[in-house]
Amino acid sequence: MPALKYPSLLNPRCLIDGQWRDADSALTFDVTNPANGTVLAQVPAAGSAETERAITAAERALTTWRKLPAPDRAAKLRRWHDLMLTHLEDLASLLTAEQGKPLSDARAEVRYAASFVDWYAEEARRIYGDVIPAPSGDRRILALKEPVGVCGAITPWNFPYAMVTRKVAPALAAGCTMVLKPAEQTPLSALALGVLALEAGIPDGVFNIVTGDPAIIGKTLTDSPVVRKISFTGSTEVGRLLMRQSATTLKKLSLELGGNAPFIVFDDADIDEAVAGLMQAKFRNAGQACIAANRIYVQRGVYEAFSKRLCETVARLRVSAGTDEGADIGPLIDGSAVEKVEAHLEDALAHGAKLLCGGKRHALGGTFFEPTVIADATENMVLARDETFGPLAPLFPFDRDDDAIAAANAVEYGLGAYLYSRDQRRIWRAIDALETGMVGVNSGMISTAVAPFGGIKQSGLGREGSRYGIEEYLVLKYVCLGGLAA
Ligand code: ADP
Repeated sequence: MPALKYPSLLNPRCLIDGQWRDADSALTFDVTNPANGTVLAQVPAAGSAETERAITAAERALTTWRKLPAPDRAAKLRRWHDLMLTHLEDLASLLTAEQGKPLSDARAEVRYAASFVDWYAEEARRIYGDVIPAPSGDRRILALKEPVGVCGAITPWNFPYAMVTRKVAPALAAGCTMVLKPAEQTPLSALALGVLALEAGIPDGVFNIVTGDPAIIGKTLTDSPVVRKISFTGSTEVGRLLMRQSATTLKKLSLELGGNAPFIVFDDADIDEAVAGLMQAKFRNAGQACIAANRIYVQRGVYEAFSKRLCETVARLRVSAGTDEGADIGPLIDGSAVEKVEAHLEDALAHGAKLLCGGKRHALGGTFFEPTVIADATENMVLARDETFGPLAPLFPFDRDDDAIAAANAVEYGLGAYLYSRDQRRIWRAIDALETGMVGVNSGMISTAVAPFGGIKQSGLGREGSRYGIEEYLVLKYVCLGGLAA
């Protein structure tokens, strides 16, 4: 475990009603460092009873939190944001220890995560309703916005701070309370945020964190009639399950699910910029991002030049433990993540792809994998349909613009897409035709708290970030004021 300047941030217990608790059974599970397999901490293996208690606490806290004037809720969120930045180094160390990403990326994630808290501290003051022109003179018609109520959130391991704050911050800003279940691989980051939330003065029961069996905690959240909303980021398979389970109590849902992002390089693109963009879109977090470029379509005219430049750049990436300040790529999260990359690579090579660089587990051993580029990928390869979630970049050559767009859309997912071109007409044709919730044009890095992040098709429902993100935690109440005839 890294030495922390503020050791209280390492707090491997559940947060229920402002109290730090072990599981009723006193059972725990291990959190390990993916860079070397060492056990970092033991975290409570909580289940249904603890989750019910957290829901009850959130229900109790809701009555006062939702009535707190917006500037007061905003001030507490603002304090939470400030504390995250005060403890940036410690938070980054915790993240690198349990998730593996390089420290520089971990610091960037803490800032990015804090930016959602900052943004929604401001949005808390701007939850406007409407006054609607009435159909008759004796009436006034209002649409009020109210918090949806107690929310459940389930988050993944790839961005363990940002995925938490982009749910909790808008929920709390809207006047909702929350029960969070973080990913079992990375609970320590979420629990550290819980420590800081209490220090920021966020009242007991407003933000609860339960660690343990995902299926049991998930079912308890979805079955509860008290929980009015579920926000989930993770696989499409689990998203569908949560939607099915939420049907009996008809919950409001936000689902940010799998992606399979196309990255299209047209032949008029600036090749240096396209390569730089791909390095971010493909290799950030070792490719473990739902908006990671998964299929790279390169037009025939620039295919050779782009492949060559890309391989030269990839060869300079330094694979190392995240604690090594020079690291560009850390370990993958676990053994099965490595096996998936290997399986996709093997299948692609068997179907005629050509290995350009990388191609195997890294000499460091464990879950380190060499950043890899393959050429001549085709649509019949597994990686064309399924997201690799690792440092494997397959290049698909194409001839006509329409071929690339059709291939880009020929998957069940619709989260992010990227394109590189200098021709405005070509750019707009592509933007209009792409079936995704987000498009990066001449940019490989599209995530920001001010923009609506989310997908269509099997990539999910709802948006996170921006002014749209808070709507996910609000419901409308229409008021008809009658009998007002003069
Ligand atoms: P990944 O493959 O990226 O781990 P998952 O969808 O399995 O994606 O995990 C995302 C989150 O969903 C994690 O917090 C995980 O614990 C949780 N999860 C996994 N299975 C279930 C389930 N049956 N019910 C509720 N949450 C689940």
